[in-house]
Amino acid sequence: MSRSAHPAGPRHADVMPEGHYAAPPADLNALDEKVWARTVSRDTDGVVQVGGIPVTRLAEEFGTPAYFVDETDFRARCRAWADAFGKDADVFYAGKAFLSRAVVRWLKEEGLNLDVCSGGELTTALDAGMPAERIAFHGNNKSAEEIERAVRTGVGRIVLDSFQEIVRVAHIAQSLGKRQKVQIRVTVGVEAHTHEFIATAHEDQKFGIALAGGEAAEAVRRALKLDGLELIGIHSHIGSQIFDTSGFEVAAHRVVGLLKEVRDEHGVELPEIDLGGGLGIAYTSDDDPREPHEIAKALNEIVTRECEAAGLRTPRISVEPGRAIVGPTAFTLYEVGTVKPLAGLRTYVSVDGGMSDNIRTALYDAEYSVALVSRTSDAEPMLSRVVGKHCESGDIVVKDAFLPADIAPGDLIAVPATGAYCRSMASNYNHVLRPPVVAVRDGEARVIVRRETEEDLLRLDVG
Ligand SMILES: *Cc1c(COP(=O)(O)O)cnc(C)c1O
Repeated sequence: MSRSAHPAGPRHADVMPEGHYAAPPADLNALDEKVWARTVSRDTDGVVQVGGIPVTRLAEEFGTPAYFVDETDFRARCRAWADAFGKDADVFYAGKAFLSRAVVRWLKEEGLNLDVCSGGELTTALDAGMPAERIAFHGNNKSAEEIERAVRTGVGRIVLDSFQEIVRVAHIAQSLGKRQKVQIRVTVGVEAHTHEFIATAHEDQKFGIALAGGEAAEAVRRALKLDGLELIGIHSHIGSQIFDTSGFEVAAHRVVGLLKEVRDEHGVELPEIDLGGGLGIAYTSDDDPREPHEIAKALNEIVTRECEAAGLRTPRISVEPGRAIVGPTAFTLYEVGTVKPLAGLRTYVSVDGGMSDNIRTALYDAEYSVALVSRTSDAEPMLSRVVGKHCESGDIVVKDAFLPADIAPGDLIAVPATGAYCRSMASNYNHVLRPPVVAVRDGEARVIVRRETEEDLLRLDVG
């Protein structure tokens, strides 16, 4: 942002770190519990551990780079969300943040529901035993085959995203002799306070049907007429990495406005509203996310108040946190390969992964923290940039970071809060193999998604 504000600024303007890295932290060895998973701590010998296992042992056993998920933390976060919203609401975990069969089983056991947005995610969910009625199917361009499979297996709801899809889903459901529960996704014209590319509720975007101009009301009109559909509610998702509930307040106000219009026109009170996901997490010590119970309280109050004012029964609320559940529960462990000091600029610390296992820095200018985890150090803080091994100068994992000046090849460093949108967005760029995901709990570690192999690459390449 500052770069575009000062396009012709002096060269050193880009060298100065921004935000929380403007000054080195008081203690480079300290781990801020805000950004690290619940069971992460530094041992008396200086090695960081998770679930009681030192990272040095994890690196030996599973290699690097690798993602380590704190299962205890994941389950605790699921329970915190479920408890915060209670029996009269539903929490759907957004599978796109990170999905695997183990995760599906954890969600099922902890009482959460699941959002999917592709046939692949649906298959993973069903294969791991998530009951179909606890699955919601999303997406702006579901294929006919995906819709048919979703209807056939009996997913709890399909979230309709366009006029064409209203007709498509109705037709498929009817041809299967079914009546499919659906919600209509609307755009409420709220801009969440976040990076432009991850905000999704302005009208100029591919998702949803605009409330403005009566389009959403027209969508409801059409959906109510179709025998294949049972319209159960309205859906709104306003963005990502949001810290403040005021955006949800405006969204709820507008969605309830639509419910009122629907009641007045059709005599129907739609029983549900979904306020989407997008709740923020701490990537750095500067971020202050709110607790699930605070968010639940705020959202419940907003919806109840708006419905009372509109003379409506309060609908059942659902929310769809993805990042806020899985994001903080994992870190990526890397081994340092080269250390390249650039005089007067900064030191480039290269790791054995990069943009193929974390695209968010390159894609969204995301900020991350990093720490030396295989030992402590008393060396001076050194302005560093953690970069990957790809043939691309934008291959940056952590843009500005202070690492100890004695950082050296063979050291292990870890980037916390990589549970969401890292493995799920991982690529094979440069034919680099995608890292494994290892779940750690109570002194035991097990691979839940194995490391890709060169045979995997060759298997897809059929010559
Ligand atoms: C991406 C998405 C979510 C989850 O977003 P998070 O930022 O991970 O909480 C929830 N609902 C919908 C419809 C989404 O597209």
